[in-house]
Amino acid sequence: MPPVTTLRVALPVPLPRVFDYLPPESLKVEGELSGRRVRVSFGSRELVGLIVGEGEAQDADALKQALELLDPAPLLAGELWQSLQWLARYTHAPLGEVLATALPVPLRQGEPLAETRPWAWQLTEAGHTSAASLRTGTRPQRLAELLQAGTMAEALLDDRLEGWREAARNLAKRGFAIRVLRDAATAAPVPALTLTLNPEQQEAVAALRAGAGFRPILLEGVTGSGKTEVYLEAIADCIAAGKQALVLVPEIGLTPQTLARFRRRLGVPVHALHSGLSDTERAQTWAACWRGQAQVVVGTRSAVFAPLPRAGLIVIDEEHDGSYKQQDGIRYHARDFALVRGKALDVPVILGSATPSLETLHNVHAGRYGHLRLRQRAGTAQAPEVRVVDVRKRPLEAGLSPETLAAIDRHLGQGGQVLVFKNRRGYAPVLLCHDCGWSAHCRRCSTPLHSSPMTVHAAGKRLQCHHCGQRQSAPLACPDCGGLALQPQGVGTERLEEMLLQRYATVPVLRIDRSTTARKDGLEKLLAQLADGPGVLVGTQILAKGHDLPRLTLVVVVGVDEGLFSSDFRASEKLAQLLVQVAGRAGRAQRPGQVWLQTHHPGHPLLETLVHGGYRAFADAELVQRQAAGFPPFAHLALLRAEAKHSDPPQAFLQLARRALEEASGGSLEISGPVPAPMPRRAGYQRMQLIVSASQRRELHAALDAVLPALYERQEARRVRWSLDVDPIDL
Ligand code: ADP
Ligand code: ZN
Ligand code: ZN
Repeated sequence: MPPVTTLRVALPVPLPRVFDYLPPESLKVEGELSGRRVRVSFGSRELVGLIVGEGEAQDADALKQALELLDPAPLLAGELWQSLQWLARYTHAPLGEVLATALPVPLRQGEPLAETRPWAWQLTEAGHTSAASLRTGTRPQRLAELLQAGTMAEALLDDRLEGWREAARNLAKRGFAIRVLRDAATAAPVPALTLTLNPEQQEAVAALRAGAGFRPILLEGVTGSGKTEVYLEAIADCIAAGKQALVLVPEIGLTPQTLARFRRRLGVPVHALHSGLSDTERAQTWAACWRGQAQVVVGTRSAVFAPLPRAGLIVIDEEHDGSYKQQDGIRYHARDFALVRGKALDVPVILGSATPSLETLHNVHAGRYGHLRLRQRAGTAQAPEVRVVDVRKRPLEAGLSPETLAAIDRHLGQGGQVLVFKNRRGYAPVLLCHDCGWSAHCRRCSTPLHSSPMTVHAAGKRLQCHHCGQRQSAPLACPDCGGLALQPQGVGTERLEEMLLQRYATVPVLRIDRSTTARKDGLEKLLAQLADGPGVLVGTQILAKGHDLPRLTLVVVVGVDEGLFSSDFRASEKLAQLLVQVAGRAGRAQRPGQVWLQTHHPGHPLLETLVHGGYRAFADAELVQRQAAGFPPFAHLALLRAEAKHSDPPQAFLQLARRALEEASGGSLEISGPVPAPMPRRAGYQRMQLIVSASQRRELHAALDAVLPALYERQEARRVRWSLDVDPIDL
């Protein structure tokens, strides 16, 4: 029998291989097949996969026929297709799973590429004559007023009038308005630059304009130094050249405030891509990028997968931010992948931060990245004054010293706003029995040797495990001794809020954390309550960035000490970044700001270096230590984790992996483990890990390449849930 031609298909299944199918009956094999989606049956399911090429098989009877070819032309092609294949190799993840991660859900499920024709609205003749009869102030009337000036693109209406869709339907029903197609290119109003860039900003913009092609550039500037204005200039250039700009922002940085600022300044539709959108909306934006219609895309981590056929620029704001690293599934780093794409697309990549990651600084030192600095705050704002407050032996009220409370009194008295930062949600971290020493632990996460306390919520009424999400009501009496002396220990944001509410009855006291801002617009609504008057914000790291609070004059940081003594080698870097970012909230406008750091370790080297030398002094010292210790960025790590109900299978699996890696590498890798993971038990699963370290990236990948395919097939692998994380952030 002559061999038959097959389709090689990457499917979203956890197996490191592609699958052969016979072409579907209907297929007229014409054009490029690679990068087109097919629907196939796989076991008892139907799956959507991507064709990666053609193959040959001897025995046609042993193969299934693909059910349906879904795309008339490749959905993934060119740079994105190549980059995603690179990502699969780099993460050592199955290509089919990587491709599924990169696509919006509707495309993953086999729906056609979304329609993205540029719809707009205009008034009918009846609308023009009768608009005056609409009741003033209603949405339909406000929409009619907007449309009096002319046709408006839907993408622009999003920005001008909340709830315009309903209003448009209302006008359409009355025959006052109609939906029309119009060319997006002609819809752009003229952008207006309302401020003059300062000399440092001008220098940065000029430097960006000077080059062409792929160039990674660190734009290092303290918070409020005007980095965003520099991005906006570069983006405006990019749009003027007819190209697309992709802007990545951290998860909590993509606020309506940010988007409005981009829209105002750029005068073209700005497409948002984030988890708050529906799948349909995301698929639409993805399609608009695919067709080259979307000129500016601002999005969080997964926006790094946007197709950019006319790419001109990539910006990564707050490049040090931890939210760029995906922590489950395909463990990619959006910043690093953006750099890979920027290189393949041959466009500049701007990495902006006030507190650059040590990886990026290392690349700057090595001459691989350009470096631009903004040393001063933009406009008239001054750098805040930082004070380390020694709270040893001081009486504390919900964690605040008398001096700190007096400072809050003072700032409120002068009409200022105060931010009290505490990186712990809930009422208190522990519920303790004062009679017998019992404390509340999560049954699913603790072991006799490892305790995982439940966090106290709702003023002591509820307990919650922040690791597995388990909730229960707090016991009324101690389960061990029956005593009634149960006491919340320590301080969380809820407890701070309770105390501050009592103390400051006449000003708003608002708690900002994941519990109070879970709903869409939650943060916006809360901050609106604050308006221009004095007030207190109590919050977690959500408050560390994003929002411009011009009246904020005092930032109090409570409990930095927890981060000073951690086993994670990245803990110092994270703490330093967090402190600098939080401090950067103070005094962003005319009023000078103050930052009070409460600590029991006023002489700690990290605090000393930060306060006296600034972030760069800290980072330089830290890089020296990393090099001495052989940690990233001077070494390259991979983390192999395994978990199961009992600890034997993870142990056996990781032992096997260790032996295989040692053999494959000829001893050039440093391997530690199997050891228990930092959370050795979570949600009832025993967790173990293996850390693999290499001085050369190449060695690490060669060993993983050699070992992983066989590892998937082993019996030991089937008894555990396992994952591989290349360049892990949390060890
Ligand atoms: P960053 O992104 O570095 O935190 P922004 O670009 O958000 O800084 O700027 C901080 C504030 O300063 C914003 O309110 C911005 O409008 C303002 N600003 C930026 N550049 C200038 C300038 N050249 N002149 C006056 N105000 C400026
Ligand atoms: Zn007790
Ligand atoms: Zn738990």
